Amino acid sequence: MITIDGSKGEGGGQVVRSSLALSLMTGTPVTIDNVRAGRKKPGLLRQHTTAVHAAAEISDARIEGAEIGSKRFVFEPGEVKAGEYRFSVGSAGSTTLVFQTVLPALMLIESVSTVEVHGGTHNPFAPPFDFLANAYLPLLRKLGPVVEAGECQPGFYPMGGGSFRARISGRQPLQPLALAERGKLVRRQVRALVANLPKHIGERECKLIARKTGWDAKSFSYEEVKGSPGPGNVVMIELEFEQVTELFIAFGEVGKKAERVANEVLKAAQKYLAMDVPVGSYLADQLLLPMGIAASQGQPCEYRTGPLTQHTRTHIDVLKRFLDVSIDVAQDGDTRTVRLRQN
Ligand code: AMP
Repeated sequence: MITIDGSKGEGGGQVVRSSLALSLMTGTPVTIDNVRAGRKKPGLLRQHTTAVHAAAEISDARIEGAEIGSKRFVFEPGEVKAGEYRFSVGSAGSTTLVFQTVLPALMLIESVSTVEVHGGTHNPFAPPFDFLANAYLPLLRKLGPVVEAGECQPGFYPMGGGSFRARISGRQPLQPLALAERGKLVRRQVRALVANLPKHIGERECKLIARKTGWDAKSFSYEEVKGSPGPGNVVMIELEFEQVTELFIAFGEVGKKAERVANEVLKAAQKYLAMDVPVGSYLADQLLLPMGIAASQGQPCEYRTGPLTQHTRTHIDVLKRFLDVSIDVAQDGDTRTVRLRQN
């Protein structure tokens, strides 16, 4: 049994999800204390209990104390089984985060699984579906696993009502991966989504970004989302390079001008462009788990990124508790190279 102190480091939901993912794939039981002690509303939220129950469902796990508000729970996984799974967050909780909890274990077993998750697909403080599909999964595929995600019906905070489906092809040989450079820019795409709000919001967002960047008209699209139960507006900038795709997002809110949303996402993209590293700050923490798995199986991995976030540092500590890997961080000015190796 490994005991994880959820108040250490970043102190958020990632410690919970990552511990579950690692417990599932290593078969090691885990107790998590002080769950999300670093957050305003500590303890498990619905999105986290959905992740715990999803992890339990794919592995016939025994769980103790994993209710909404719980500050301590125990998770004892059984054998991970492939299947056709459907999970529902039952609110606008993040579908991608629930998916990332079960993905590592399902990609390491023999048979094919399908996973459908219902809830929010474009949530603040979580990977938007487009980031999962276009930034995260292509890199995961370079590591070996064959995982595809699609059929996204966007769902926004606070009403949710979104979903997507993914297909995980079962165990593939893992490969080493080094992400040192981005390579050349291949494509850029600015997408504004608007649900149950005037379409001109998306148009204004695209116009502002076009005016400030001079990017050509075919890089822009604004779309009205049909079938969403509530209002929503997001703008995403996707930058595809030869070696990596990064995706940035900003969220509309009541009382927030469309131009402010557009400026926010543009600033995030420009900050990344100015850094000249392949891996942005969100990918940096999310890549650790699959790269740690590959490294633990003798396939060394590394990537270059900017200064490490607290999320990334905490994630490194959690990985080292479960996997027999060393994770070194070398600093060169503003850039860091993170290297993962089998011990
Ligand atoms: P936590 O705050 O502990 O629940 O973890 C949030 C997770 O969502 C981390 O893995 C972040 O990298 C990820 N995340 C948050 N915002 C974004 C974003 N805009 N794009 C991609 N990933 C994100």
